[in-house]
Parts: sequence; structure tokens; C-alpha cells
Amino acid sequence: MSESVLKRAEYLLDQAKITKDGLSKRYVILARKLAMRTRTRLPPELNRRFCGKCSAYLKPGENLSVRLHGGKLVYYCKECGSHRRMPLHNKSH
Ligand SMILES: [Zn+2]
Repeated sequence: MSESVLKRAEYLLDQAKITKDGLSKRYVILARKLAMRTRTRLPPELNRRFCGKCSAYLKPGENLSVRLHGGKLVYYCKECGSHRRMPLHNKSH
């Protein structure tokens, strides 16, 4: 896997973050397609920025709610209603 693919995926997700609602999904989809095409596994810090189901860029307080449940973080996408459990990340390296 290549460093530049990750850079490009991150760039696309950054665009998704700053762009207006209608377009942000497109950037997320582009980033996911890029990862798929290049068989790159997106690292969790990128992966958890969007909904794996509907590709919405997730913004806490807007279309994302995060809850702690059973020692795990539950990400709830308000756009499609899907849940995703994440381990609590305590890694700093
Ligand atoms: Zn969703």
C-alpha cells in the first residue's frame, strides 16, 4: 500500500469535511473508491470519519452521535440510522 493513496484519501475526506452537504458524500465515495481500487485499507482514523453504509461524512453534533456502550464507542449515523461499534482508542502512537 502506498503512502500517497492515503494522502489522497485524506485530502478527499478533508474536502468532504469543508464542503456543503450535498457534495460531501461524493468526496467520501471518491475516497472509498480510491481505497478499493488500490486495495488500500484505510486506517481507523480515516475510516471512522464517514459512515460505512451511506458514505455520509460524519460530523459530531450534526449527523453523528457517539455514545459509550459496554466499553465501546457506538457511532450512530443519523442519515441512514446505522450503528457502528468502535473500540475505545487509547493508542497514542
Ligand atoms: Zn449512514
